[in-house]
Amino acid sequence: MTTIQHWIGGGTTPGTGTRRSAVYHPATGAQQHEVVLAEAADVDAAVTAARTAFASWSQASLSKRAKVLFAFRELVNANVDRLAEIVSDEHGKVLSDAAGEVQRGLEVVEFACGIPHLLKGEYSDQASTGVDVFSFREPLGVVAGITPFNFPVMVPMWMHPVAIACGNTFVLKPSERDPSASNYVAELWRRAGLPDGVFNVVHGDKVAVDAILDHPDVAAVSFVGSTPIARYLHGRATATGKRVQALGGAKNHAIVLPDADLEFAARHLTAAAFGSAGERCMAISAAVAVGGAGDPLLDLLNRRAAEIVVGPGRDPKSEMGPVVTAAAKTRIESLITAGEQQGAKVTVDGRGYTVPGHEDGFFVGPTVLDGVGTGMDVYTEEIFGPVLSVVRSDSVDAAIDLINANPYGNGTAIFTGSGEAARRFQRGVRVGMIGVNVPIPVPMAYYSFGGWKDSLFGDKHVHGPEGVSFYTRGKVVTSRWPHVEHAHGASLHFPTAT
Ligand code: NAD
Repeated sequence: MTTIQHWIGGGTTPGTGTRRSAVYHPATGAQQHEVVLAEAADVDAAVTAARTAFASWSQASLSKRAKVLFAFRELVNANVDRLAEIVSDEHGKVLSDAAGEVQRGLEVVEFACGIPHLLKGEYSDQASTGVDVFSFREPLGVVAGITPFNFPVMVPMWMHPVAIACGNTFVLKPSERDPSASNYVAELWRRAGLPDGVFNVVHGDKVAVDAILDHPDVAAVSFVGSTPIARYLHGRATATGKRVQALGGAKNHAIVLPDADLEFAARHLTAAAFGSAGERCMAISAAVAVGGAGDPLLDLLNRRAAEIVVGPGRDPKSEMGPVVTAAAKTRIESLITAGEQQGAKVTVDGRGYTVPGHEDGFFVGPTVLDGVGTGMDVYTEEIFGPVLSVVRSDSVDAAIDLINANPYGNGTAIFTGSGEAARRFQRGVRVGMIGVNVPIPVPMAYYSFGGWKDSLFGDKHVHGPEGVSFYTRGKVVTSRWPHVEHAHGASLHFPTAT
């Protein structure tokens, strides 16, 4: 059993703490590693390394930064398979899905390779007679990322390539449940030529997070995780004057209209509900069947859910792996039971699921519930497991109202053949990311990713233009190079353009 250490100042260190956390192999249920848990002194060591590195990295030319980014891009691309294996072994998701997550992270690195273009400022020649005005953006300093278990490569890559390209230095606190991928990424940054101390990894729990939130030398915090922690973190970090973007949980609905291709919708809905065992913030967890779509859609969903091949992530035949921990399995199964007790019909039941040869693995089978009401726990809770609730609705407008009544606003989708209904939907829902016949509308890296309402605390979405804006602050210079004939024009009244 290996001990996963911090990565501070260009190499590994066990840090000062003695606390450890178990890292499991979800498909076998066995502990495979332990990870060190940071104390405040370890966070301070990482922030100090990052602050020291900021002095020179923030002054590195755009050309030098872009060269490191391009080298990092090549290394990530060459190691997609290895990264996918590391993710699969600790998270549980199947290899093809893990490779997809690395690919979506890689796209953010590719976006950040364009940093010389992204940081171009504005220039107004002769804004006043003999006066020019121009703007540019500077990095913030040491910035931190605190990330969830469900995308151990992609979610940190929403943050660090952009932050580092902008000239900041970075401290990552990944999930303690699947920590290994972050150290592998740190090694790739080192091989790409990133100076020591620019990218650091501190492993830990609430102790490490609180030390980051309170540290006076951390200028900004990006967080992705559950809504209660996002809300807490946003309050605490903004109170100490930090810039914060805190992305929270989700309850994503997909509306299916009777005019949709129901076979197409059912296939895409099952992929969106059960891919990664439902442990995606953009997973569809509620299918809202409008009018006559209900019964035929339910039949198709039941059939497809029952066909899904569940097994260990490393088995190429598996379409869906286990959930992340034994505690997650227990929680998901008890929510299914609560749904049944509160009046929903379990039409496909994933409770008590076992995979031969992996009897101790944390498996939950695909589950479909029909007749789900908005007061049931299975509807109000973010289940974060392979459970799809079918909710019936009378009209598109009633379905839109249902979505808008939900406290979350991360992603949503509509399946329809009607452009008019799709347009009404996209303009009517109070949600950040919307799909039209696309169930998981994760924006490309050159757009920004973020939800509304309880799915995001803070103003800026991640990556894309808003990511660059988040990790920089602007300066505007008003300049004049006076000739002798202009020198006598000084006046005490407020300066106006002449
Ligand atoms: P989590 O909130 O439990 O943990 C996220 C991070 O916060 C981890 O690094 C963890 O160590 C830390 N943390 C946990 N408890 C803490 C506490 N009490 N104080 C301070 N820090 C604490 O989330 P998770 O279970 O790892 O991930 C799943 C959640 O993340 C789901 O709610 C999912 O919707 C959400 N998520 C959201 C997005 C998005 O883009 N909105 C993306 C991925 C995941």
